[in-house]
Amino acid sequence: MAVRPQTRTYLDYNAAAPLRPEARDAALSAMETTGNPSSVHAEGRLARRIVEEARADVARLAGVAPRSVTFVSSATEAANCALNPRLGAGAAPIERLIVGAGEHVCVLAGHRFAAAATEIAPLRGDGRIDLDWLEAASRRPGRALLALQGANNETGVVQPVAEAAALIHAAGGFVFCDAVQLAGRTSCDIGELGADVLALSAHKMGGPKGAGALASARADFSIGERLIRGGGQERGVRAGTENVAAIAGFAAAARWCLAGREAEAARLLALRERLAGAVKAAAPDAAVFGEAAPRLPNTLCFAVPSVEAATLMIALDLAGVAVSSGSACSSGKVTSSHVLAAMGVAPELARGAIRLSLGWASDEGDLERFAEAFEGAIGRMRESRGAALPSLS
Ligand code: PLP
Repeated sequence: MAVRPQTRTYLDYNAAAPLRPEARDAALSAMETTGNPSSVHAEGRLARRIVEEARADVARLAGVAPRSVTFVSSATEAANCALNPRLGAGAAPIERLIVGAGEHVCVLAGHRFAAAATEIAPLRGDGRIDLDWLEAASRRPGRALLALQGANNETGVVQPVAEAAALIHAAGGFVFCDAVQLAGRTSCDIGELGADVLALSAHKMGGPKGAGALASARADFSIGERLIRGGGQERGVRAGTENVAAIAGFAAAARWCLAGREAEAARLLALRERLAGAVKAAAPDAAVFGEAAPRLPNTLCFAVPSVEAATLMIALDLAGVAVSSGSACSSGKVTSSHVLAAMGVAPELARGAIRLSLGWASDEGDLERFAEAFEGAIGRMRESRGAALPSLS
């Protein structure tokens, strides 16, 4: 098939997925709604109905009751809200926080625990949390809150959340799961994860930017110290008029995530494996990160020895292919990845980390355009640097 050079190839779904058509339609239609969901007149009641129907859809995705979903602006806000020492869950207070070393920065920097009450749970070389360490940590004095992501945004490595949650629960603790990268790629059902509360983000699954959710399975869950104070919206948990349009789009994306998820995961996995084949064909010495662990079907994170990620990313961008280097949230200032460092990847290799992530609009054409652009970029680097890339010669 002829490659159309003017077509952009978007391989950065883990940073933001393109808006799904039904999410766009739902958001645009909700944007026409005049009323404030807190108003009692007909216009307000219509806006309220949109929010409550959306709550039921997001609740189905998370496997919780609708009243257990709180809409917020983003997963970052969800993490900042939930991870506070006054979190109410059960009779005993939460005294300490255990955070996975590969968590997103919104968890690592967004929690409200004192440094002395925070422990970082190490990762193994395959990117999964060290469960032996966690078991020992769970037995230490003080009721613990564990923050563990469902899957990593950089490597796609899926964490053993259910096993980790069982250890923490056996010691009377509580589990927060950042399920942002699970939604739309695999299940984010709270029962299957064994977590107590989940964070979700609309824009990672084909919804609009500006909506996220906290979803709890526990009847005794309360947010503790509120982050955003003011009116009594979201049952007093999160003040501020609801973002009705973004919430409506979020729900449409959630409905899509639940329908046909397994077929979509299989499709993405087949594309991802072919992307990996294209990388290895042009750069046989490329290292794939997290390969030994279960990974999301849509994510491929790799590095080519002695090729800087920033250089490769710019070359691919100029060729019409959008990829990410390390964490998208910190790209622009290319810092080395804390996730790869926690996995013990050598800094020289980690500096070359490129992430490809696929989603609902990804197709064969993307694969072909990536393969051509990547081969061209690596070929040019090889030519210009001669013996600097010996293993490619
Ligand atoms: N958690 C993970 C794993 C992510 O990948 C991201 C975004 O990159 C977030 C949390 C933050 O999500 P949001 O953009 O909704 O704040």
